[in-house]
Amino acid sequence: MKWLNRLSAILVGLIGVGIVRDFFARYEVLVFDKADVDEARQEQKDGEPSQPIDLRGTPSHVCVCGSNQFYVRTIFDNYEIATYFLDMVCVACGSLLTAPTPVDRTTE
Ligand SMILES: [Zn+2]
Repeated sequence: MKWLNRLSAILVGLIGVGIVRDFFARYEVLVFDKADVDEARQEQKDGEPSQPIDLRGTPSHVCVCGSNQFYVRTIFDNYEIATYFLDMVCVACGSLLTAPTPVDRTTE
């Protein structure tokens, strides 16, 4: 009878390991600080995010906050802008946007 108890304990252990392995293969476990979660929920209630938004992807002339002024990293040559990088930051809210280029201009 002793060997049957050991065998059943081994089987239960193997099944438990399989369940845990399957759980971690299927799901990702994220750990949040409760203070951060409460802060994020409060920001959702207030309706105004205090963090800048990453809006990169579509070339933009105006930010979602209404500002049309941006910080853009440029390279100058002979007193003119020779090139500029596509990532830009809104002066008013700090959101990241994609700078427009002549190639993005649509012909209408
Ligand atoms: Zn903005």
